[in-house]
Amino acid sequence: MRKLLIFTAPSGAGKTTIVRHLLQKFPQLDFSVSATSRPARPGEVHGKDYYFISPEEFRERAKNGEFLEWEEVYDDQFYGTLRSEIDRLWALGKCVVFDIEVKGATNIKKLYPKETCAVFVKPPSAEILFERLRGRKTESEASLRKRIARAAEELTYENTFDTVLLNDDLDLAFLEAETIVKNHLSSTL
Ligand code: ADP
Ligand code: 5GP
Repeated sequence: MRKLLIFTAPSGAGKTTIVRHLLQKFPQLDFSVSATSRPARPGEVHGKDYYFISPEEFRERAKNGEFLEWEEVYDDQFYGTLRSEIDRLWALGKCVVFDIEVKGATNIKKLYPKETCAVFVKPPSAEILFERLRGRKTESEASLRKRIARAAEELTYENTFDTVLLNDDLDLAFLEAETIVKNHLSSTL
């Protein structure tokens, strides 16, 4: 049973929070560790949160066809899903979980339409999204500006995925996410 479960949204909507909750709740799931050329944040671990590589190595590996999809999400900051990651997790019998932006999510859904459940995580409003992003205190002013500038377009993708998950009250969002997982895991392809 080769299954994929994508959580997508603008930066700050709550994807990582929801995905972490689901990973500790459901042993059938495992996380697709993306490669990125952005620097690690304090506490992030190479091989767990991301594979942190240089922009040169990223370009080289993209040229070699190692990515299922990749995007230059911000100027000179690349993010991509390694083919090897999905193969590794499917070989373990896991349903592969993604935390990726909207264009990558659209591409994976196109590649695996039946196997993929793609969930758009919707913040209650753009203002609350920006508050969350600032409140996370992980970004410089320049990085915050880039993320906010990209969010308006990303929010227009809301209705292009399989499901919309409103992330207002976090406990309710966790419960709804758990229902989505249970339905996807029990679905026959
Ligand atoms: P993303 O992975 O989509 O960029 P995060 O999961 O990092 O988003 O969440 C952004 C910030 O918002 C974090 O500080 C997180 O703790 C907080 N957050 C997430 N969901 C909620 C929620 N429902 N209510 C309030 N704060 C939230
Ligand atoms: P962050 O720097 O906040 O970790 O991630 C920035 C954005 O890149 C987020 O929307 C995140 O979901 C997205 N992202 C992370 N990994 C990938 C990936 O492999 N491919 C794509 N297309 N986007 C990704």
